[in-house]
Amino acid sequence: MYDTKAYSAASATSPLVSTRIPRRDPTAHDVQIEILFCGICHTDLHSARNEWGNAVYPIVPGHEIVGRVARVGSAVTRYKPGDLAAVGCLVDSDRTCPSCVEGLEQFCPNQIMVFNAPDKHLGGVTYGGYSDSIVVDERYVLRVPTNLDPAAAAPLLCAGITTYSPLRHWGITKGKKVGVVGLGGLGHMGVKFAHAFGAHVVVFTTSPGKTEDALRLGADEAVVSRDAGEMQKHAGSFDYILDTVSADHDVNAFLNLLRHDGNMTLVGAPAKPLSVAAFGLIIGRRSLSGSNIGGIAETQEMLDFCGANNITADVEVIPIQKVNDAYERLLKSDVKYRFSIDMASLGSE
Ligand code: NAP
Ligand code: ZN
Repeated sequence: MYDTKAYSAASATSPLVSTRIPRRDPTAHDVQIEILFCGICHTDLHSARNEWGNAVYPIVPGHEIVGRVARVGSAVTRYKPGDLAAVGCLVDSDRTCPSCVEGLEQFCPNQIMVFNAPDKHLGGVTYGGYSDSIVVDERYVLRVPTNLDPAAAAPLLCAGITTYSPLRHWGITKGKKVGVVGLGGLGHMGVKFAHAFGAHVVVFTTSPGKTEDALRLGADEAVVSRDAGEMQKHAGSFDYILDTVSADHDVNAFLNLLRHDGNMTLVGAPAKPLSVAAFGLIIGRRSLSGSNIGGIAETQEMLDFCGANNITADVEVIPIQKVNDAYERLLKSDVKYRFSIDMASLGSE
């Protein structure tokens, strides 16, 4: 076991502060990674503030991790010291259930998340990426294409896979009209992928100041969703809508924009249940679905796709000392379009 620097919150109302946490020494199949960058996902904020009711304190968030391999266990075959490597939300699963066998570890009932999950090695809970080092079984470590900027690649590990996976699952290709609701971390990656897959992409935002960026990021149109007249122009026209909104909002306004047999997928995870009008689904045989990150193989496929197509997140790189300010800005939808923490800043703690 060794000690590493980290930032943790002591309760739902405490700010994140500098601390030290234990990490296990790499066992035979483990990779020890010195973390270079960690993205800030809205899930980190929901969790640190216990909005979903399952937080265990102290909590060290962070699940969009890119770093350099420092040490490997004796049985590790795929990584060596010096490699660029990444870790996302999943650090273990039972490997035997039907979901794991299908490569869908994100649905494993015994999955272990990178933070706030039972730690079978050290006891207590797992600690995430707001830290300068982490140890993960090589099976859950990803390879980062070396042509990608590591700071801008970190958000691919959650915002990237969470939008890539449902767009692939629902067959988004050229000729499809796709809506992306919310232009934050997930939303801006959804726009980039839907555009790269050839769809006609329409962004729905509550922030009028983001419409120009939406077009720059790859959208064909941008609609301010609070403008009922603009919304009405798109009624019944979408094949697919990806909803990335982190807070309570009216999903019915978007269901009504789907054509018959259209689908809307929720990836945003507001704390409170949403209200769905039955007629929004009945009329037009529409469906409402959800999606949870992606499996390990698909995450690697997504990273390779990003390497081949030069896709990364648009990031604002911050030192870890600014993490609490960044959380406040997330709550104001003031992020363009992902914060990426430069872990070198932990050196001064
Ligand atoms: P984010 O960067 O904060 O973006 C959320 C966006 O939603 C905001 O930028 C804003 O976009 C819009 N929004 C915020 N409040 C709103 C409101 N009251 N009404 C309408 N729109 C609002 O968050 P994120 O990191 O992308 O995460 C988004 C959600 O996905 C979070 O709930 C997170 O926990 C969840 N998530 C789920 C998964 C999964 O596997 N399913 C994975 C990661 C994250 P505009 O300014 O454009 O309106
Ligand atoms: Zn996330």
